[in-house]
Amino acid sequence: MATLRRLLFSRRTLVFTAASTLGLAGGGYYYLNAGPVPCPASTRETRRPPPVWTPPSRQAMLDALEQSASPRAPAPAQDARGEEQDVFDLLIVGGGATGAGVAVDAASRGLSVALVERNDFSSGTSSKSTKLVHGGVRYLQKAVMELDYEQYKLVREALRERKIFLHTAPYLSHMLPIMLPLYKYWQVPYYYAGCKMYDVLAGKENMEGSYLMSKGKALEMFPMLKREGLVGAVVYYDGQHNDARMNVALIMTAVKLGATVANYCGVTELHKDDQGKLIGAKVKDELTGREFNVRAKGIINATGPYTDSLLTLDDPSHKPIVRPSSGVHITLPAYYAPARMGLLDPATSDGRVIFFLPWEGGVVAGTTDTPARVNAQGEEVTPTEEDVRWVIDEVRGYLSPDIKVRRGDVLSAWAGLRPLISSGSEGGTEGLVRSHLARVEPSGLITIAGGKWTTYRAMAEETVDKAIQVFGLQDKVKGGCRTAELRLVGSDGWSQNMFIGLVQRFGLDTDVAKQLSENYGDRAWTVCALAELPGEQWPVHGVRLSPSYPYVEAEVLYAARHEYACTAVDVLARRTRLAFVDVQAALVALPRVIKIMSRELGWSRARQRVEYARGMHFLASMGLAPGSAVNNDTTMGARTWWTWFEGGFWRLVGLAGVSTPSRASSFSSFKPSYSRTKFDAGEVDALRELFDRRVATAAAAVSSDASSSAAGRLNKAEIEPALKAFAREWPGAGYEGFREADYRYVFAQEGLEDQTDVDFDEFVEICGNLKDVSMMSVAKVAKKERKRIPVEKSGGGV
Ligand SMILES: Cc1cc2nc3c(=O)[nH]c(=O)nc-3n(C[C@H](O)[C@H](O)[C@H](O)COP(=O)(O)OP(=O)(O)OC[C@H]3O[C@@H](n4cnc5c(N)ncnc54)[C@H](O)[C@@H]3O)c2cc1C
Repeated sequence: MATLRRLLFSRRTLVFTAASTLGLAGGGYYYLNAGPVPCPASTRETRRPPPVWTPPSRQAMLDALEQSASPRAPAPAQDARGEEQDVFDLLIVGGGATGAGVAVDAASRGLSVALVERNDFSSGTSSKSTKLVHGGVRYLQKAVMELDYEQYKLVREALRERKIFLHTAPYLSHMLPIMLPLYKYWQVPYYYAGCKMYDVLAGKENMEGSYLMSKGKALEMFPMLKREGLVGAVVYYDGQHNDARMNVALIMTAVKLGATVANYCGVTELHKDDQGKLIGAKVKDELTGREFNVRAKGIINATGPYTDSLLTLDDPSHKPIVRPSSGVHITLPAYYAPARMGLLDPATSDGRVIFFLPWEGGVVAGTTDTPARVNAQGEEVTPTEEDVRWVIDEVRGYLSPDIKVRRGDVLSAWAGLRPLISSGSEGGTEGLVRSHLARVEPSGLITIAGGKWTTYRAMAEETVDKAIQVFGLQDKVKGGCRTAELRLVGSDGWSQNMFIGLVQRFGLDTDVAKQLSENYGDRAWTVCALAELPGEQWPVHGVRLSPSYPYVEAEVLYAARHEYACTAVDVLARRTRLAFVDVQAALVALPRVIKIMSRELGWSRARQRVEYARGMHFLASMGLAPGSAVNNDTTMGARTWWTWFEGGFWRLVGLAGVSTPSRASSFSSFKPSYSRTKFDAGEVDALRELFDRRVATAAAAVSSDASSSAAGRLNKAEIEPALKAFAREWPGAGYEGFREADYRYVFAQEGLEDQTDVDFDEFVEICGNLKDVSMMSVAKVAKKERKRIPVEKSGGGV
């Protein structure tokens, strides 16, 4: 006993106990406080609207651009060096992430900046990314496996930028846990170690640490996951953002800092002085066709996949350095993934990475990588049917078999061009694919291209540093780069709880208030101030553009007044994201958007028709089925009037008790629609009739042909002729134009390749899937052999 007491109360035991207690307390304190605090705290200020700020109009911007070409005489007091007053220090060409980032950096250092974009801000790759703010776990894997130090440095830089990104626009970006489902035991230590290394590499800029999950926990978090063979999961953290809105926020921040910006203004010529140095450019206003000159001391080429076009304007003998490749994403309904957890398949069937991420109320899945060609005029790139099907097939591979991933569940599909840089002209490193490239031409043109969304800020810093040096702007800058701390417009008065104030002040639906708060930050107050009364008891404010989505009409007005939206597509695709979330809902909203913009911008009838046509063209590039239409009173032509008249006539005849042609009346409900519910009322009954008829005919022939269909089942070979006949009987029901390849694809999708006949349920499934497949506008299905894709060309965007 005495020995035990001596041992327990010995100095050594006491010291050990004290040290352990201290260690535990310290560790506990560190654990509780080490996690990132991603969002600014709520304060009383975040409950109040910030002062209203209205940016200069687009016309005022155009005037300022034009003024630079006929500058006023130097103001002696202001400009001791006798420089002309209105000439810009920098003209940035391209209003994607890269150009907008450069504009913010340069303007925040005190330079006078002009930025021109030939289409809408963010209309290029910058609105079509995977929306991740990331270092890239796959790139780290490459760095380690191939002992590639350059790759390691790139991941390290991106991880640092990830932290800054989330800090500068907290309302537009957030942390997202991403799960890697593991189906082999050896993968557990391998991927866990990899994710831990990712955390360590991020150092103090890390988000939450990655962790292992048991099979049961993984299925609880992600019930849609395939259970068979699952051994567990690793969860790591990255960032996610709303790319086009982030781009617009960058543009508006640059404007607030004094930059002059204009969308729909493309550079068509570059002007040089006698020494061959660039002094300005000719710009074309794409909305009016007017051309004018802009003068600047330096020009920055930030045209992404179109880099070579501008370099060729500078030097017609220029050899291309960009090798674009297109990446395809699809949006699926929200029920395919949990609301706050993404999924990553690090090794798909052909070596690519595929992400499956909740975003804006839907689930984004992608990406693919196919060599592409850029259209010099910047026409929309459209996804191919082959790419869309590849993404669906990969998604199907890791979801539970009771979830049928259907072609018709694709709500939207889009393709973005990845501007991969080959630095062939530099030091004989032909074929090398780099993170980004910043180079100076003999004319002084500075090109910044490649990289990724996550690193836009670092790229901008490097570019502006270079521009100051090359164009001798040292005297003009007020200080060094401060974009790591500079918060974008909308951030200052924002907190995560701000939406509650919006609900209380304006009587909005909660999902609408959240959407506004997360996409506009503190400017949501201004959006709400424009909101109309829907005339209901609740919500008090906020008429939705589509009943299923939280985008409201006030956003259309706000976009036109405060964010330089010039077309209906600008609103549907980049100010709100409706076209990316659900192309059919965007189609339905299109006429309303046109109407609101017409009132605000004074559009003529002719312009409204152009907007409708452009809208349809754009939505077709996002996967809208050909032949889709919506009741649009701006385009109501003779045919529509006739349809109305005809419908009214038969209704009157019906009222008079005379029987109307039944097929004609039920046919009117058979509109070709690209909808998730595939069948209209009465259609399934008609298919039942067809099925029974065909089965009966086959049964009658059974005595003469023993190989005919079994009772109640239709031979597979009969389906094609049956549906061809049905298409003739029911024109317009959507059964026209199925190709043999469509049948093959659908049989494979349904797992019916080895079956000789089908029952009625299977028949209906086949009909529905055929409609989905054949109605895609992106239908070029070319059977190509898939090659293994290198990491740097794989998912998530470098
Ligand atoms: C499929 C895909 C997924 C990606 N995912 C991610 C991701 O998850 N995370 C990430 O960090 N990065 C990602 N990226 C990379 C990232 O999206 C791009 O690096 C970035 O958007 C490039 O921006 P940019 O401004 O250089 O190009 P763009 O956004 O294409 O902008 C260039 C602009 O220049 C304009 N322009 C062209 N010529 C002229 C002219 N003569 N006059 C005026 N304007 C002109 C164009 O209209 C265009 O708007 C992804 C890329 C792709 C393709």
